[in-house]
Amino acid sequence: MSAPVMLVTGGSRGIGAATARLAAECGYHVVVNYMSDAAAAEFVVGDIIADGGKAYAVRADISDENAILAMYDELDGRLGRLDVLVNNAGIVDEVARLEDMSAERLHRMFDVNVIGSMLCAREAVSRMSVNHGGRGGAIVNVSSASARIGSPAQYIDYAAAKGAIDTFTMALAKEVVADRIRVNAVRPGIIDTDIHASGGDPDRVARVGASLPMGRAGTADEVARAILWLASDAASYTTGAVVDVSGGRAI
Ligand code: NAP
Repeated sequence: MSAPVMLVTGGSRGIGAATARLAAECGYHVVVNYMSDAAAAEFVVGDIIADGGKAYAVRADISDENAILAMYDELDGRLGRLDVLVNNAGIVDEVARLEDMSAERLHRMFDVNVIGSMLCAREAVSRMSVNHGGRGGAIVNVSSASARIGSPAQYIDYAAAKGAIDTFTMALAKEVVADRIRVNAVRPGIIDTDIHASGGDPDRVARVGASLPMGRAGTADEVARAILWLASDAASYTTGAVVDVSGGRAI
């Protein structure tokens, strides 16, 4: 029988890369999506294959519906099954107050972080649903502690987008429960990845980490372990849950 298939959006770096690597260790055939850094994606795939796992990389900007459809077409042709979608790809922009946020920035924040995840989930549901001839499956969305904190004077656009992901998780979980698809999310706190540098604040992990309840930032591996649990049969009675992976950071 073929290996179960996990699609990880933004699987080339950070939390997505850690998830892709752990998924391969757990026996998944991993589809590593990325947007621009092909070398990073091929590096993850190369490591997985060198360790005896199965993976391939696919470029698709998840804010582009046609690119998502092409990614799924390729997956259908190459693997012919999908068991888990991890909606991980996400972006922040530079620290700013609302007065200084352009409409273009706001659209991009929601196109990537919300609509991209919803479109990827739409395609996953249509393939996994037992009511469409699929075998069921799991979707794990990657939210953020900012959904609850709000990140005022930093990036409330990002926080609002992640708040939408929390609501989407709860709503879709109910909508597809009879399709035998479980939908859950993780809500990471401050995790040591490149995303902070992308937001123009490369020292954020070191600066904020010590003030967190656990006295440190989290690692991508620590988030990946929660994602893999939610994806697995060990979480068979868990749906609509949003699991904080934030070292106790709540507000
Ligand atoms: P990261 O290190 O910046 O990696 C982002 C990944 O997403 C890369 O693989 C990137 O690919 C991909 N990506 C970005 N835009 C994309 C697009 N339009 N289409 C497809 N792929 C795209 O980020 P991270 O810190 O691992 O964050 C992963 C997720 O965790 C995000 O949803 C983020 O909001 C969430 N999160 C992170 C933290 C944290 O502290 N790190 C905290 C809370 C939540 P390319 O390199 O090819 O562009």
